[in-house]
Amino acid sequence: MNQQKMNELKQWMAKEKIDLTYISDPHHIGYFSGYESDPHERVLALFISLESDPFLFTPALEVEDAQNSSWSYPVYGYMDGENPWEKIAQLIKQHGHPNKIATEKEFLSIARFEALQSHFPEADLSANATPAVERLQLIKTDAEIGLLLEAGNWADVALEIGFQAVTEGAAEQEIIAEIEYQLKRKGVRSMSFNTLVLTGKNAASPHGTPGAATVASGDLVLFDLGVIWKGYCSDVTRTIAYQEPTAFQKEIYALVLEAQLAATAAVKPGVTAGELDQIARGVIEKAGYGEYFNHRLGHGIGTTVHEFPSLITGNDLVIEKGMCFSMEPGIYIPGKVGVRIEDCVHVTEDGCESFTKTPKELQIFG
Ligand code: MN
Ligand code: MN
Repeated sequence: MNQQKMNELKQWMAKEKIDLTYISDPHHIGYFSGYESDPHERVLALFISLESDPFLFTPALEVEDAQNSSWSYPVYGYMDGENPWEKIAQLIKQHGHPNKIATEKEFLSIARFEALQSHFPEADLSANATPAVERLQLIKTDAEIGLLLEAGNWADVALEIGFQAVTEGAAEQEIIAEIEYQLKRKGVRSMSFNTLVLTGKNAASPHGTPGAATVASGDLVLFDLGVIWKGYCSDVTRTIAYQEPTAFQKEIYALVLEAQLAATAAVKPGVTAGELDQIARGVIEKAGYGEYFNHRLGHGIGTTVHEFPSLITGNDLVIEKGMCFSMEPGIYIPGKVGVRIEDCVHVTEDGCESFTKTPKELQIFG
């Protein structure tokens, strides 16, 4: 449970004269309550009231798990077949009659919005909590950074397993299976997104689809992966060589590395998100490969693998201590070569620390 962040949300509510906030995104529910769950089609909700205690509302089969989590306020459940909205409305009305209710407009379905509205026809439901929650998540607490470091450490373990699985003729899907099999045996429950292993020309597509392609001599092999650990995500990319790379592959790799190191060296409080993107992009543009770096430098990371801030040219957001984000420049020349190097970092007083520690210099296997 993150009491500090719930208090900060209530400060926002007080300022906006919001009586009640309905959090519906399971990642955000986990962020505030400490209770992580995927409710599928059932209703999982967190209600944060300005004047009274917050409460969690879960399917009946999850009540016990929620009570056993770090959440220390009430948990209420509903049975399959019961109308959850009648129960929710009753619970809310036990604690007063909210005039203004905020919802997560970027997440909540219209059907659920209307269900809530039908029980509170007089209330103002126009407030959007999504931007407020995203702003809260921008600055991580020390405890959150601790978990992100643990998640990063698991990503390093995953890379090492993957590197060992790179052999002549190994298929991308086989390498992925090996990584995830070994991680699960070690106690990691889930990846933070579908693991990418792309070899040779396939690596030239930034978000390619792994398949039956096999590793051959002279391939660069791109790994992009991460885990969810105690609700927090990791995300790392390394590109390695299977047997001796060509001079051209080495040149592209060296450029991406230079861009990644230059941007990382520039991270400190006061720099803007846009400036960091410009620094990395500048290195690649100067060498004539600007058009092949076709995505932003990075994205925030926390309970989700993509959150704020967005590291993109033009974003004036000022970087502060406690922000956590990826730095992931790449060069993708279709049909020829693909290289990306990615670490996620947290901003310190005068620089940053990476959550992942796998060396960045080009490693050659086989
Ligand atoms: Mn990323
Ligand atoms: Mn990634």
